[in-house]
Amino acid sequence: MEPEPVYRTPRRRVAYYYDNDVGNFSYGLGHPMKPHRMRMANNLITNYGLHKKMDILRPKRATKEQMTRFHTDEYIEFLSKVTPETVAELTSDGTRFLIGEDCPAFDGLFEFCTISAGGSLSAATRLNSGESDVAINWGGGLHHAKKREASGFCYVNDIVLAILELLRTHLRVLYIDIDIHHGDGVEEAFYTTDRVMTASFHKFGDFFPGTGDVRDIGMKRGKGYSVNVPLRDGIGSFEFGNLFRPIIQHIMDWYQPGAVVLQCGADSLAGDKLGCFNLSMRGHADCVAFLKSFNVPLICLGGGGYTVRNVARTWTYETGLLLGEELDEDLPYNDYMQYFGPEYKLDVPPTSMDNLNSREYLEGLKSKIIDNLRQLPQAPSVQMQETPRNSLNPADVELSDDEDSDLDERISRKLRDAHIQRYGDELSGDEESDHGMSDDESFLASSRRGSYSGLMARDLSTRSAITSTTLSTLPPKAPSPFDHDLGHKYMQTNGVGGAKGKGRAKRTFFAARAAAPHWAELQSHQQAHTANMIAAAASFASHANGGGLSGSHGPGDASPSEFGEGTPVPGNHNSAAHLQQSGLGIGNGGGRHSHAAVNGSRRMTAF
Ligand SMILES: [Zn+2]
Repeated sequence: MEPEPVYRTPRRRVAYYYDNDVGNFSYGLGHPMKPHRMRMANNLITNYGLHKKMDILRPKRATKEQMTRFHTDEYIEFLSKVTPETVAELTSDGTRFLIGEDCPAFDGLFEFCTISAGGSLSAATRLNSGESDVAINWGGGLHHAKKREASGFCYVNDIVLAILELLRTHLRVLYIDIDIHHGDGVEEAFYTTDRVMTASFHKFGDFFPGTGDVRDIGMKRGKGYSVNVPLRDGIGSFEFGNLFRPIIQHIMDWYQPGAVVLQCGADSLAGDKLGCFNLSMRGHADCVAFLKSFNVPLICLGGGGYTVRNVARTWTYETGLLLGEELDEDLPYNDYMQYFGPEYKLDVPPTSMDNLNSREYLEGLKSKIIDNLRQLPQAPSVQMQETPRNSLNPADVELSDDEDSDLDERISRKLRDAHIQRYGDELSGDEESDHGMSDDESFLASSRRGSYSGLMARDLSTRSAITSTTLSTLPPKAPSPFDHDLGHKYMQTNGVGGAKGKGRAKRTFFAARAAAPHWAELQSHQQAHTANMIAAAASFASHANGGGLSGSHGPGDASPSEFGEGTPVPGNHNSAAHLQQSGLGIGNGGGRHSHAAVNGSRRMTAF
């Protein structure tokens, strides 16, 4: 018998979290965020046979108690109750919790949040237990959600919840965000701590959410631990990698995180409906490959991505990459074949769009960021707190030396000042800008650029709110690293003026669309879906694994157990390894609650 090679690299144990219900939810007709894309990705992943190489798990739904480790009780209570019929009343006419049309109160909203957040929490618990090296939740990555307010299609910040869970066993956690939008919700949550470093690569300038200047680097103990890489339109894979790799290499060497969370928002891909970058699938996936190469516990999450066929292709390819599997360039037969024609290929190639990031700009950016990082102590040895027995409280990562009653205000002021300065700066201030316009002019200008009106309008109204001098008149709030909800503050200060009025206009716009649905579009979609189901049913028996437990979805989906996370999926080669994860280790605080208790919302059965 051959002896075991001494230096063999162990195979990465990959956990993949997926809930069959996630694809059933709809933000509403015409809304660019389509949970259906997760079902498409899952179906492609299964039809490539990748489900046989990893542990397929259905996550426990996140409980309200788990969500309120970051969000306010009041906000989560609201999310659990709101319906399309009650939204006007519960939001005081759209002035709190859900503002504007980006975040509609769709049917089943809260259940969707429990699935998305449950997947990321389970992924963190899984890494903490040591059962897996990599955990994937393409249903997570909702990085804009704020402590007490939804933002940019995000309601519950699954990423912050997952990071809080990881902090129970890791001294330092690195968060990396390659969505085209700034990872503002996560950055804000950890703006004052050195236990989490956030690094966001994003489009900056006239773009939602308006934050993420290179000079926004964190505050207090967190100063230097927020990294922002603001980019212009059209950045390609080569230029992106030339920034991403050295910056991340430097962070990994210097910060030495115990775990990494990578938000793989796919709206940075070429041809995205809302995005304006030019990354190919392989350029996007190179970020995943690079992080994998460090052999540090890794969570990969989804995020944005609005050209759904490209989202499905890329997240499939990245799943294969994490498993070390080469995928055939020709797509296998899958339930959503018609989305991928006429080529039926895996690749997402770049387009011919111009790259507005000059070499000088990118080099200057890289130097500035790495210079900033050099100011930091190597691997800050924060004092480890005693691991809480049940759940992590935000206070557990509060590291401020001195209680500071106006912390919230100081962070606001700091970011506001940075935004005021940005337009004169050599790094971020020279692009053509319509920031002198009124909100209405900006709204029209953004509509002309063909982007989703809500996101762009929010961008511009948020930015104008940042510069409002009324910020300083707000009363201070209780000190906590989690109490600097800037988005909420912007809205508060503009509630009577711009934002409220704009909110009304947007609601009217959205309501008009909802009242006159595109029936032809809906019917053709449903017919196509039905045809798919019939065609797929014919090949049902040929799938050794997959949809056996699923009653409502395309056969061939990797179907996690209906009996809860950690229960073996029949046919999965790793079944025996599935111990009762929910009962293991330190992460089971939320397990006290049955998900049935938060599972009462109605569910959409549209696509
Ligand atoms: Zn995005």
